[in-house]
Amino acid sequence: MVARQDQTTDPELLAALLQARRGTAFFARKLNELSDTELDGDSLLPGWTRRHITAHIGYNARAIARLIEWAATGVETPMYASTAVRDHEIDFGATLSPIALRHLFDHSAVHLNVEWRDLPGDAWHHKVRTIQGREVPATETVWMRSREVWMHAVDLANGASFADIPAPVLERLLADITGAWHTRGTDKGLVVKVPDRDLTFGDTTSATPTVVSGPLAAVVEWAAGRGNGGVTATGPGTEAKDGTVPAAPKWI
Ligand code: ZN
Repeated sequence: MVARQDQTTDPELLAALLQARRGTAFFARKLNELSDTELDGDSLLPGWTRRHITAHIGYNARAIARLIEWAATGVETPMYASTAVRDHEIDFGATLSPIALRHLFDHSAVHLNVEWRDLPGDAWHHKVRTIQGREVPATETVWMRSREVWMHAVDLANGASFADIPAPVLERLLADITGAWHTRGTDKGLVVKVPDRDLTFGDTTSATPTVVSGPLAAVVEWAAGRGNGGVTATGPGTEAKDGTVPAAPKWI
């Protein structure tokens, strides 16, 4: 039976779904403002045009929908056969006609939304596996998608900025990014601060850390490797030119 509204009644999950849906609508708006010719233009990601971003977001919705089908049926359906297959798919998608590319985004987003909506409440706790090999409950797919649509809307280079991303999404992004650095050990001697939100991440045990600080949106933009406007830096590595902001460690 096809439901008309979400099957889950978990308020936290419903709030997360709303955030992902708003992010998808935001991405759609930034995409729809672009003319077909403008799709050929550069995105903020090196080597990727806006076409690549759009194809990636479309195929990402399909991949996440496969995880929801897995959670619903118990039949293992991975996100992608491999990272090589995923990358090849994006390169192919980037060559589609503008109308096909726009349909890919629209249809995949609607399909994912239906899969989420119809997933029974208890199936949300079923475990699935991400492309990185992490075992997660199906609930995690909502964040996985939210992160993609909000951040890549900025990457479309069509006027969206990190300041357009809701604070709860930015805070979780920053926790994800600094967590990835910590796992890799690339945050040695680096502390990240958002004073107006009382947030501190990174190598807080260092006696002489390099401290990068600023408003939430600016700090996340820097941490995600998208620029360093609006952040300041002190400590080792910043003396050469007063306040030089070091590049953030790689995240993905
Ligand atoms: Zn992505």
